[in-house]
Amino acid sequence: MNGSALVGATARVAVVGAGPSGLYAVKALLESDVGVGIDVFDSLPAPYGLVRYGVAPDNQKMKSVIRVLRGSFTEGNDVRFLGNVTFGEDITAAELRAYYDAVIYATGTQGDRGLGIPGEELPGSYGAKEFVNWYCGHPDAAERDFALHGPEVAVVGAGNVALDVARLLAKSTEEIAATDVPDRVLGTFSSSTVTDIHLLSRRGPAQAKFTTVELREMGELANADILIDPGALELTPEEEERIAADRQQRKNVSLLREWAQRPPEGKPRRLHLWFWRSPVRIIGENHIDGVVIERNALQADGTLRGTGEYETLPVSMILAAVGYQARALPGVPFDEHTNTVPNKNGCVLEAEGTPRPGEYVAGWAKRGPTGVIGTNKNDAAETVDNLLDDLNDLRNKGRDSSRDVTKLLRQRGIDYVDWAGWLRLDTHETTLGEQQNRPRVKIPDLLSMLEFTRK
Ligand SMILES: Cc1cc2nc3c(=O)[nH]c(=O)nc-3n(C[C@H](O)[C@H](O)[C@H](O)COP(=O)(O)OP(=O)(O)OC[C@H]3O[C@@H](n4cnc5c(N)ncnc54)[C@H](O)[C@@H]3O)c2cc1C
Repeated sequence: MNGSALVGATARVAVVGAGPSGLYAVKALLESDVGVGIDVFDSLPAPYGLVRYGVAPDNQKMKSVIRVLRGSFTEGNDVRFLGNVTFGEDITAAELRAYYDAVIYATGTQGDRGLGIPGEELPGSYGAKEFVNWYCGHPDAAERDFALHGPEVAVVGAGNVALDVARLLAKSTEEIAATDVPDRVLGTFSSSTVTDIHLLSRRGPAQAKFTTVELREMGELANADILIDPGALELTPEEEERIAADRQQRKNVSLLREWAQRPPEGKPRRLHLWFWRSPVRIIGENHIDGVVIERNALQADGTLRGTGEYETLPVSMILAAVGYQARALPGVPFDEHTNTVPNKNGCVLEAEGTPRPGEYVAGWAKRGPTGVIGTNKNDAAETVDNLLDDLNDLRNKGRDSSRDVTKLLRQRGIDYVDWAGWLRLDTHETTLGEQQNRPRVKIPDLLSMLEFTRK
């Protein structure tokens, strides 16, 4: 890094996205020995991305990472939050390049991957992101509600998001009431008549991507028995050999085997863990009546094939937790195959591989939807290192340092939310929480959020 040789006015950097990767990038910029002023844009009036709108509401411990992420906005740092500003709508890539020496895109993912099976369009079939947005109080889902009438529902996926969704569906009203879900969401969970939750993994227990900590929580549910077919846990000698060398898989399989031996205790709900099963068709006319699942088998080349053995689960809702997916940002290169911004170690590239000097990417927009919150720290540090290496050259491009983007936003009538505004909303939510003996009560609708940022 040669940023320490910089002279003259403070360099200005725009970070688009106030999720973990954006805020870890801010932290890395501040920790460098380069004087830098940073504006952090987010389309929402609230920061923290998926820490606020993804991490499950019953996992408040994980949300404590916010203490680290908010640290950059303390007095004395030249860091501004500009919430309620959507990149590509309220401000363009070209404008950011004119106002800043460098721009870091840290916009995460915006969409759900679908199942791609017939019947998926029927009411009752949803992507997990919709459901997660709803229970996390995301403004996009403020008008949504879900009919938790069951009695049987299916969750498709073999990762932590599928576990989160299935776990919340299995929890009692008292357990949900101990979280920060919006009042309306708590009301819906309280009147849930779901009794059976089917978690469908297309591969086997030795392939699932659950992390052991998350999986273990499933075995400790006060309100639900876990049911697994012990036959699904008989592994091939190759699989046994493979998991012997993989601590996470080994622990996961050992937990699952322990649960398969447990007699059910007659708890109000049941969580059925299915392996080697794919949904192939959703049935119903105006609403889901069930889902047809097919047993899978592993082929010699590692791919799956359907065996032609079908069963129908009489579910009234199916939630597909098969992956989040980024969408192209206006004016920013996008790789349609990887669904990421093409880059070399965080430096944005044109589709044909030509560098775009001054443009960088971090987090899920850079590497796709993998890894935990902490993974974004090193990822953002790599991006920032490369940015700092380029900064001297970038600063010689002649940006007019007297221009302030807030003037442009005001001229456009954009009601941006600054850090003090966010703190007012934050205080309002935590105060509501204190009144109800809950960690916080989220305000989901955008207009109310904006109103509380002003009070
Ligand atoms: C449901 C779910 C649960 C998870 N649970 C855990 C967990 O328990 N523990 C854990 O370690 N990890 C968990 N993760 C993973 C973790 O959340 C991610 O690793 C991390 O959030 C990725 O960070 P990011 O900053 O790249 O993206 P994000 O967190 O998605 O942040 C992107 C930010 O960009 C903003 N943005 C997007 N588009 C625009 C635009 N056009 N203009 C302006 N702003 C924009 C968004 O509003 C958002 O604030 C979970 C992920 C999901 C999906």
